Amino acid sequence: MAYTIHMGLNETPSANRVHIGFFGLRNAGKSSLVNAVTNQDLVIVSDVKGTTTDPVSKAMELLPLGPVLIIDTPGIDDEGALGELRVRRARQVLNKTDVAVLVVDAITGKSVADEDLIRLFRDKDVPFIIAYNKSDLLEKEKAPGAGENCIYVSATKKHNIEALKERIAALAKTDEPKLQIVGDIISPGDFVVLVIPIDKAAPKGRLILPQQQTIRDILEADAAAIVVKEFELRETLENIGKKPALVITDSQVFAKVSADTPADIPLTSFSILFARYKGFLAPAVRGVRTLDSITEKSRILIAEGCTHHRQCDDIGTVKLPRWIKQYTGKEPEFAFTSGGEFPEDLSPYDLVLHCGACMLNEREMRYREACAADQGIPFTNYGISIAHIQGILKRSVAIFPHILAELED
Ligand code: SF4
Repeated sequence: MAYTIHMGLNETPSANRVHIGFFGLRNAGKSSLVNAVTNQDLVIVSDVKGTTTDPVSKAMELLPLGPVLIIDTPGIDDEGALGELRVRRARQVLNKTDVAVLVVDAITGKSVADEDLIRLFRDKDVPFIIAYNKSDLLEKEKAPGAGENCIYVSATKKHNIEALKERIAALAKTDEPKLQIVGDIISPGDFVVLVIPIDKAAPKGRLILPQQQTIRDILEADAAAIVVKEFELRETLENIGKKPALVITDSQVFAKVSADTPADIPLTSFSILFARYKGFLAPAVRGVRTLDSITEKSRILIAEGCTHHRQCDDIGTVKLPRWIKQYTGKEPEFAFTSGGEFPEDLSPYDLVLHCGACMLNEREMRYREACAADQGIPFTNYGISIAHIQGILKRSVAIFPHILAELED
């Protein structure tokens, strides 16, 4: 189980923060270095080896980088190679890590387990820096090995901490254009209508994260967001006085919204926009076709990105299995996972059905999708499955012609 120290609702969502993972041996002073970098007591530091037993995360502003999520991982064992469990844990954190910091005791140097971790960083293509801690106890700093990206620091004397932060920030910078939710497919001055049911499953007194983020994206694009419940849509469209550029709906009311939205107004769902935003729309649209070949022997993994279900209620555990059984006329077997527990071995499954992943960052979702692709297991998400079951998938992806082309193959 991972612990997250929660932030206020008005702060940058965790999924949008640069994820910085700290790794290292139990006695390399990793937790002290995390505290020095964050300038606060994020974790309990003690002289007892292995004080940190589960990953601890904290959302914070880290200059010069901006909003980040700091993840302090359990100390790895310095006795021999990495144990199987520790490799698994390190992998799980690495799947969402944008920059890794490997903390090494400057006195003893890198161990076999540190070398294993470096191999893991390279395998997973995670940019990393080696922080040689306890440099104050050294007579002389050693020259870095060939091609080694490293820095000497002292957590206790606060030596080179600012320089380490700058090096982390440089590693986090990427030339890849930032994915957008909807801003790149609308124009300034457009109207966009959002359909949001307020039923008993909706959280009290607020909108959920994907809805808030979409509204923010529309405003940033200098367009106007008009928010309605499903029962007000038809009348709103009749009285708005201008054709909306797009209607975006919650997947659960897809069928009604599709019926109430004239055919010449583009329609999509939050799920489809978020699958694109998290980088897996194309495979998800391909993967959903598997629903048409489900048999009594099929096994479907339903994976949720968080454990508290506060935004998804019983869609994954109750409604989707029911809709799939009705649609296919079969009784496939369902398995469920949630939070960070996404199985590396997907071979027992014929299909992975993932939630909207609003709490997971793009790197983690790309990893999960790639994990399925490597093993040849189709991968899709809730909203795309609902649109497929209701026969309106083509209409809801028509705003992305290259995706529509895949469906018409
Ligand atoms: S979409 Fe996934 S990550 Fe977001 S609240 Fe629902 S279960 Fe959690």
